[in-house]
Amino acid sequence: MEDYDKLLEEAYGKVKRIDTKSERFEIPKVDVQNVGNKTVFSNFIQVASYIRRTPEQVCKFLTKELASLGKIENDRLIFNRKISSVQVQDKFSLYVKKYVLCNQCGKPDTEITKQDNLQFIHCLACGAKQSLGR
Ligand SMILES: [Zn+2]
Repeated sequence: MEDYDKLLEEAYGKVKRIDTKSERFEIPKVDVQNVGNKTVFSNFIQVASYIRRTPEQVCKFLTKELASLGKIENDRLIFNRKISSVQVQDKFSLYVKKYVLCNQCGKPDTEITKQDNLQFIHCLACGAKQSLGR
């Protein structure tokens, strides 16, 4: 009987493990509208906190990649030119792949650390550390 319980426990353990694995991280969808000559990224603060990066870090990357000035207003990021939501989504996904997801295990449980003027992405799940350059 003990063996049977053990088997059950093992089976349950396996199921549980598969469950956590299937809880996959998905890159959040950006909510972007063109207003006049400007572009409003409405859920900016929300998606930045979801990927656990500061709004400033994400803003710096997006404005550089999209060649536009931008300012954070309340929960939104406002670009000073017209940009399609597809372009914003593209660059946002790029940011997540480069600065959020671990290139070893693919998990989003990472943090950005600085050492000797170099930036590193440090994975809290597997411990991998990768240089991002300056
Ligand atoms: Zn990792």
